[in-house]
Amino acid sequence: MRSTNPAAWLNCSTSLALPIARVNHRSQVRGTRTGNAIQEWQMHVTGRCHCGNIAYEAEVDPDDVSICHCSDCQMLSGSPYRVSVRASAETFQWNSGKVKSYVKTAASGARRAHTFCPNCGTPIHSSDARSPSTYSLRVGCLDQRADLPPRRQRWCISAVPWSTDLTRIPQLERQ
Ligand SMILES: [Zn+2]
Ligand SMILES: [Zn+2]
Repeated sequence: MRSTNPAAWLNCSTSLALPIARVNHRSQVRGTRTGNAIQEWQMHVTGRCHCGNIAYEAEVDPDDVSICHCSDCQMLSGSPYRVSVRASAETFQWNSGKVKSYVKTAASGARRAHTFCPNCGTPIHSSDARSPSTYSLRVGCLDQRADLPPRRQRWCISAVPWSTDLTRIPQLERQ
C-alpha cells in the first residue's frame, strides 16, 4: 500500500525506474502517447516453435509479462510455472504452420483454447475459445524473451515452494 508520506511514496514507486530500463531497448520498443500523458509501450515480438513449423509475430506490452503458478499452467507447460504476455488479436499474425488446440474448461465455465505445435508440442498461446480479443503468448517461445522480465506473479497460493527462489541452487554454465 502507498504511504501518505510523499518521500516514501517516491522511494517505493517502480514507475520512476521503468523509462530508464526501457532506453536500452529503444530499437525494439515503441512508445505512443495517448490521453493525458499516459504512455502505452509496445514491443514487436516474433515467436516460433522448437521444430520451426510454427512462426508468428505480434505487438505486446512489456509491462504485461506475468508468471502464473496455477496448477493448470504447471501441468500444461510441464514446468513449475508459466510465463506469458498478452497480445491484442489485431496485432497477432501467423507466419507459418498450423497449430492444434486443446480447450480447457475452467471451474467458472470459461473455455480457453491452448494451442501447440502438432509436430513438436511446443505451447504457443491461449485465448478465449470462442471469440479471442487477446492472445496469451508463451514467453519462452519469443525471440525477445530476454527483454521481457515478468512484472507480477499470479496464483501464488499453488506455487511449487522450491520454484520461487532458485538462487541457492548450484548453477552450471552448461549441462
Ligand atoms: Zn513445432
Ligand atoms: Zn495459470
